[in-house]
Amino acid sequence: MPSVAEDTIFAKISRGEISADIVYEDEVCVAFRDINPQAPTHILVIPRDPLSGLTDPAATPETLGHLASVCVRVAHEAGIAEDGYRVVVNVGRNGGQSVAHLHFHILGGRAMAWPPG
Ligand code: 5GP
Repeated sequence: MPSVAEDTIFAKISRGEISADIVYEDEVCVAFRDINPQAPTHILVIPRDPLSGLTDPAATPETLGHLASVCVRVAHEAGIAEDGYRVVVNVGRNGGQSVAHLHFHILGGRAMAWPPG
């Protein structure tokens, strides 16, 4: 049986079935601009594998480490690294996760409030 994550909008973006403003991609992941940006720069980094979220047992340290390093690279290339930025992974209902495909948010271009709402 296919996992739920195989049918999400992000899985379709990673397979090229739905368009997105892609800023980086490699064999493991795709990074693209969020359709509803919460900051001047708001980019999502997702694995090509249909992992449901951070707690998916198939989310290996290698994959998670790669995604984190791509966040650093993408933030630098987007020009937000010098002033600083935020990387967020929402997990489950209380975490505010709305798409069941693992994604790292990169938010920058303005000062971020803390604590988050
Ligand atoms: P979550 O709430 O799951 O942590 O974040 C999901 C994010 O995906 C939201 O920020 C939302 O704006 C973004 N998003 C949802 N659908 C699409 C889409 O079709 N294209 C793009 N580029 N972003 C999307």
